[in-house]
Amino acid sequence: EFANALEMFAAAVGRAPETPILRYFDGVTTLRELDALSDAFACGLLDSGVAHGDRVALYLQNVPQFVVALLGVWKAGGIVVSVNPMYRPRELDELLRDSGAKAVVCLEGLYANVRAVFDGTVFTTSELRHQSRNDPRAFAGVERLACPDALDLEEAIARYAGRRPPEVRPRPDDVAVLTYTSGTTGPPKGALNTHGNIVFTASVYRDWTETGPEDVILGVAPLFHVTGLIGHIGLALLVGCPLVLFHRFEPSLAVDTVRESGATFTVGSITVFLALMNAPNADRAALGGLTTIYSGGAPIPPAVVKAFVERFGTYIHNIYGLTETTSPALAVPLRSAAPVDEATGALSVGVPVYGTVVRVVGDDGVPLPAGEVGEIVVAGPQVVPGYWRKPEATAGTFRDGGLHTGDVGYMDAAGWFFIVDRKKDQINAGGYKVWPREVEDVLYEHPAVHEAAVVGVPDPYRGETVAAFVSLRPGHHANEQDLIAFCKPRLAAYKYPRRVTILPDLPKTATGKLLRRELRTRPGSP
Ligand code: ATP
Repeated sequence: EFANALEMFAAAVGRAPETPILRYFDGVTTLRELDALSDAFACGLLDSGVAHGDRVALYLQNVPQFVVALLGVWKAGGIVVSVNPMYRPRELDELLRDSGAKAVVCLEGLYANVRAVFDGTVFTTSELRHQSRNDPRAFAGVERLACPDALDLEEAIARYAGRRPPEVRPRPDDVAVLTYTSGTTGPPKGALNTHGNIVFTASVYRDWTETGPEDVILGVAPLFHVTGLIGHIGLALLVGCPLVLFHRFEPSLAVDTVRESGATFTVGSITVFLALMNAPNADRAALGGLTTIYSGGAPIPPAVVKAFVERFGTYIHNIYGLTETTSPALAVPLRSAAPVDEATGALSVGVPVYGTVVRVVGDDGVPLPAGEVGEIVVAGPQVVPGYWRKPEATAGTFRDGGLHTGDVGYMDAAGWFFIVDRKKDQINAGGYKVWPREVEDVLYEHPAVHEAAVVGVPDPYRGETVAAFVSLRPGHHANEQDLIAFCKPRLAAYKYPRRVTILPDLPKTATGKLLRRELRTRPGSP
């Protein structure tokens, strides 16, 4: 449809320049304004010495400046490096070194982290700036900070107001963003998301979720992650509909934002929808307008979908993708409900999106027939060409005609796909193989369980045994023995958890994924 993401954006500006594209509390930015702001920032970047192909890191929460900076970097011919704002200096250092970033755009509150490890150009901005109401719920404790040796983003924009940078025309295979994998299973790798990847998956989102100019997107996923990059920014820029941002996810603020903004669509991780369900101000009146919900990035426990429909009337659709597929590879079409695997109760993640071939292969790489479990391999226009400066990891993952996802699953006779689990997370309990997700799904059926994560822990007798970590819903009670007793009649003898640990909260990545890896190695783990 478009050769690059800038053409996609320019088409939206050309169609309806006065459309409010970004909303942030009581501030609104139109497409025309976003175009002008990003033009000015591109001039500022070029003037600061950023040249074609240079990497510029964005170290920001979900603020409008993220989108201004993203477009500005592209207009200056640069490559965006998206950095998780929860990263501490050590983790930031790893990404800045790995990407060879020339400049960083960050919030004032994160400036000290940047300067601890980086001596290049830094642009700072504030969550209170741009167009924000001083909403006490979002900005409690936020103060303006002095940032010596930094350039001010808004001043740079003001200085070049009205100027246009020389036109750049990225090719479809030019890299647009280095999106670092979320680190659920190991050290982060920069996936080379090209302009072609981004334009393709933004179109997939538009077509599969049936989002149009009358919709309003609620920005619950972090913008630095591929879900936010495509399912929020890419989709909004392609369709030309408003994206509502609210700094960082906080459940009751999200509920209020839905009500106030009239948001109709969102995509996020299941953690977000669990949190919304438990928000004190969540009810059908507040959330009823949010009629299209997709959840990706982690398995959806069927019990959660059921509870969500009962309370709010909205079904949660599954979408499956990786950083390496620039968001979706498989999805449940808007007008379908996902079939359920009768044996395990798992929900389907859908069917391959158009232009995409998804295979299930055995250990020998040979495709398996329907019903058989193997590794999921994806080929299509959304698959990135590899990892930034990691030829070995690239060769290991992108081979034999597709991206080897590390996920294990199968396709049923009708062509629906089911993810069983991550290959690496399989538990070997004395020779019996257990997939943690199946045990987690059972735990979620218990009324007191808020979140559950299951891992294999060393066991002198079995080698490895099944251990569950659980957090409880506010006002509910259950002890370890209750939860073991609940699972026992519902799972084969080798699968039910032998140890349960109740924690106030479970460790997660910034995208809301439960960190099984951290639980496995946790001091005091059962
Ligand atoms: P890292 O690659 O650093 O270990 P990560 O795998 O969590 O982190 P992402 O690219 O954010 O990085 O996540 C992709 C993974 O999320 C998939 O490989 C899959 O395991 C899981 N996933 C995505 N969507 C779904 C879904 N709908 N159902 C189940 N699992 C999903």
